[in-house]
Amino acid sequence: MTTTTSQETTVTTAVTDRAQRIEKLRAAAYRIRLNALNMGEVQGQGYIGQALGVADVLAVAYTDQLNHRPEDPHWDGRDRFLLSIGHYAIALYAALAEAGIIPVEELETYGSDESRLPMSGMASYTPGMEISGGSLGHGLTVATGMALGLRHLGNPARVYNLLSDGELDEGSTWEAAMQIAHHGLDNVTAIVDVNALQADGPTEGILRTEPVTDKWRAFGWHAIRVDGNDIEALVDAFDEARAHKGAPSVIICDTRIGRGVPLLETREKAHFMRVGAEEWQTTRDQLAEGFNAAGSATDTEGSDR
Ligand SMILES: [Mg+2]
Repeated sequence: MTTTTSQETTVTTAVTDRAQRIEKLRAAAYRIRLNALNMGEVQGQGYIGQALGVADVLAVAYTDQLNHRPEDPHWDGRDRFLLSIGHYAIALYAALAEAGIIPVEELETYGSDESRLPMSGMASYTPGMEISGGSLGHGLTVATGMALGLRHLGNPARVYNLLSDGELDEGSTWEAAMQIAHHGLDNVTAIVDVNALQADGPTEGILRTEPVTDKWRAFGWHAIRVDGNDIEALVDAFDEARAHKGAPSVIICDTRIGRGVPLLETREKAHFMRVGAEEWQTTRDQLAEGFNAAGSATDTEGSDR
């Protein structure tokens, strides 16, 4: 009887721990989106849709998964997070602020002269920015070298590379994918943001990448595909990727451009968004509304258990 009670207690504690973990991440994702909107307002435009779409992925990476020291961004034991899509810098700055690597107040300098936060990600400017991205298709090649080096040195740190689905058009991405699998670099996790859009239009119409999961598997990767706006699914996918041994892992994340802000989810020109000066407050109001409504739903579910 005592044993049963103890097991029940353990199970209940595990459920509560997981619920708290998810709720913490949901709040982090909300703040990342809010940071991105505030930065967007500074410039009046930008890659806002991508930032909102990938916020859940970054929340899970930076506040749940990455082994890092916010006060020492160059710590040798840190997990490396490579942003090869330099135009997503606004999203990464939002996450770096949430993770405590750069001060939240600094975000208002975004894109201005003398700022450490240029509009495209550059390693020499920003603490926590591992590589200068933007010329697409180089992140995974750099990850190859870093991961080989870490293994050679016996350093247990992991290498993550966030790619876009448009970046799968680059041949160098697939050369690196072959190399990483060939060397059995299970310290690499690639994350692909599949928002089905790229600069010139819908991905499907530019260069078809589907069936994308099968392609990665054919290249020797452990491939996991999830709803990239589902925090629970993301947590499980990252945990699975870290535990998988003998081959690299890729997490293919289906995300929605503008996620969390209905006004922007439906915007036609979504790759590079222009948002009117009078619209920014609406975007923040809609974001808060959605966050609070989802919170109430979670509370109700919780009380039913
Ligand atoms: Mg895309």
